[in-house]
Amino acid sequence: MIGLRLLLGFVLSSCIGFAGYRRDSLTPSGAVGAVVVGSLTVGLGGWAWGLMLVAFFVSSSLLSHYRRADKSGVSDKFSKGHRRDLGQALANGGLGVLLALFYRLSPHPAILAAFVGAMATVSADTWATEIGILSRQAPRLVTTLRTVPPGTSGGITRGGSLAALAGGLFIGICAIVFVSAERLASGQSAALGIWWSGLPIAGISGLVGAFFDSLLGATAQRIYYCQACQTQTEQAIHRCGSPAYPQRGWRWLNNDMVNFVSSGVGALVAAGLTIWLV
Ligand SMILES: [Zn+2]
Repeated sequence: MIGLRLLLGFVLSSCIGFAGYRRDSLTPSGAVGAVVVGSLTVGLGGWAWGLMLVAFFVSSSLLSHYRRADKSGVSDKFSKGHRRDLGQALANGGLGVLLALFYRLSPHPAILAAFVGAMATVSADTWATEIGILSRQAPRLVTTLRTVPPGTSGGITRGGSLAALAGGLFIGICAIVFVSAERLASGQSAALGIWWSGLPIAGISGLVGAFFDSLLGATAQRIYYCQACQTQTEQAIHRCGSPAYPQRGWRWLNNDMVNFVSSGVGALVAAGLTIWLV
């Protein structure tokens, strides 16, 4: 059973990884990462888990392409532009694979909820970034609320925060639909009890996770400065080719680590809420 699912998961994620590469959403290493993460998530967690991952990936890629021309100036500041690489695939999906493995060993509802919380966080964060940088309103730093230039790490806007909430709720709806469908398909009841709790849990955990991401972005995340372009950047080597100088933050806490840690916070919030409420 798991062998067949791994194989079908491999086929499905290869199609999506290839399409993502062709559409310029993934680098070659990012496509490999998507196939590894996708196959293991489907194989270990099941179809509902795999489809939630697909929902995150497809919605985020579509939003990255949305009004791309308007974002080109700002996305210079982000470390890797719009194409996702291996580091990003692992940062966004790595915790999900671990949780799928734990769920396979011991299928507790809190572990499923943790997965939903992790997916809600990475979706909330991506949706907030892609919508937030289009905001006409100047972003404010999450810590001091002082106005900062668009694209600054840790800057938040009202539009971006609403997008974060929407991203989490979107994963909540996907979780309810996919998990119910998977249960019905295997002859179990649809477990409609998750209907009322799934949405707020996904919405809250996604918001908290994305907020934590901004908090790290404004404080401990490694940020560099490119003298040539006089701009802040998350890359050690700026896009222009010149080396950028460390400005602040912990050396190991790059953007990928921030995403990974934040998905862990979203997962903990969702698991905690599930144990408390359900
Ligand atoms: Zn530069």
